[in-house]
Amino acid sequence: MNNYAKRFAGRLLLRDELKLTEPEFTDLTLRKQLTPIQAITKHYFSYRCERCGNTAKDLFGKIPCSNCRQNHHYCRKCIQMGRIMFCTPLYKWTGPPPIWPPQSEEPLGWGGKLTPAQQQASDQIIKAIKTKQAELLINAVCGSGKTEMLFEGIALAITQQKRICLTSPRADVIRELLPRFQQAFPETSIVGLYGGSGKNHQTAQITLATTHQLLRYDHAFDLLIIDEIDAFPYHADPSLPYAARRAQKQDATMIYLTATPRQDLLKRKPPTVFVPVRYHGHPLPLPKSKLTYKLSPSELPTCFWNWFNQRKNKTRQLLVFTATIEQAEKYRPSLVERLPDKVIHSVHAEDSDRIEKVQQFRKKEIDILLTTTILERGVTFPSVDVAVIDAGHQVFDQAALVQIAGRAGRSPDDPTGEVVFIHDGKTRAIRDSITAIRLMNKRAGFH
Ligand SMILES: [Zn+2]
Ligand SMILES: [Zn+2]
Repeated sequence: MNNYAKRFAGRLLLRDELKLTEPEFTDLTLRKQLTPIQAITKHYFSYRCERCGNTAKDLFGKIPCSNCRQNHHYCRKCIQMGRIMFCTPLYKWTGPPPIWPPQSEEPLGWGGKLTPAQQQASDQIIKAIKTKQAELLINAVCGSGKTEMLFEGIALAITQQKRICLTSPRADVIRELLPRFQQAFPETSIVGLYGGSGKNHQTAQITLATTHQLLRYDHAFDLLIIDEIDAFPYHADPSLPYAARRAQKQDATMIYLTATPRQDLLKRKPPTVFVPVRYHGHPLPLPKSKLTYKLSPSELPTCFWNWFNQRKNKTRQLLVFTATIEQAEKYRPSLVERLPDKVIHSVHAEDSDRIEKVQQFRKKEIDILLTTTILERGVTFPSVDVAVIDAGHQVFDQAALVQIAGRAGRSPDDPTGEVVFIHDGKTRAIRDSITAIRLMNKRAGFH
């Protein structure tokens, strides 16, 4: 029975997501260990989807149903996770709770050493878990080594036979974290869930998942870590904070990680620990702001070339951020023309070679990569300079600019790096991002 409990406890699943044979399914429902709940409920004048919390009228569609031969509602909001209809129940585990195996030895197999700033954050996380503190915000600069800060806390939760989940908005990040976690916790079951992982029916003591996967959970986790709390889509889609609250067990601890917390979170004043310094101990590169009179749609401005030619370390690779896909593609020919001996590519979200190109850049097979904001966070390249073209464009809000600047100087072998924001009129986001970086450096004791 514990196997079923591990598979289903804390989840809200459609019949076909259960992956059970008909006899197994009948048996579990007759024993009331799997209980159907109505997926779409009717309220006075509206409907509500019990999976994603949607109540917006225009996000319910109506279609003819082959089961009941009538037209009825389905939820369009969460349709990418399988259609929820008025007559299709979600199943919830109501049998005995799962028991995660006790570990006789220390579950953490990671032998690294935390910096004093990381240790301080780690201690706060441990305290939060021990005292069942509801939430903790880790406000840690880009490159502070936040994954390692989590390890001791997660190890404690494993020892207490608790269930743990870490979510990130990006599948790339989950793919990258999975092997690191498997190495750090060799005896613990770990699963990575994201669109296309093919593992969405699996359950483990540690779940690493893209944020949307939370829609399939209900009272599942004792420790829930939300990475990049400020990032799209978490802050833009109210169903995700809703799902995160629901995914927690009673007395659970929620930990938020971000380098750029948004005002709505700060206003709530959750207990916070600052990690103002990078793990290698060097300050964050402070961006330069350069004004150009008018940005051409196909040629990079003179001030870019001046900056480019005066860079201190010309062996570094270069990331050039643009506001739109069109810009990324249109600036490329002029760069290629002026720098014929360099390998120059552009990349964006709709690029089918996206993963491949990022990999090539990581392997230093590409010298200059033009990119949209898809590479603004969650990626580490050891030695890059960074330019943002059209930095005054609305896609570059304060958080985006801080994150982009945070791509430079991440490696202990090359802990500095140059960042330039090129714009045709300084915006508040440009000003505030530079102020925020300066403030964090000051907090870390650099002047
Ligand atoms: Zn829904
Ligand atoms: Zn029906």
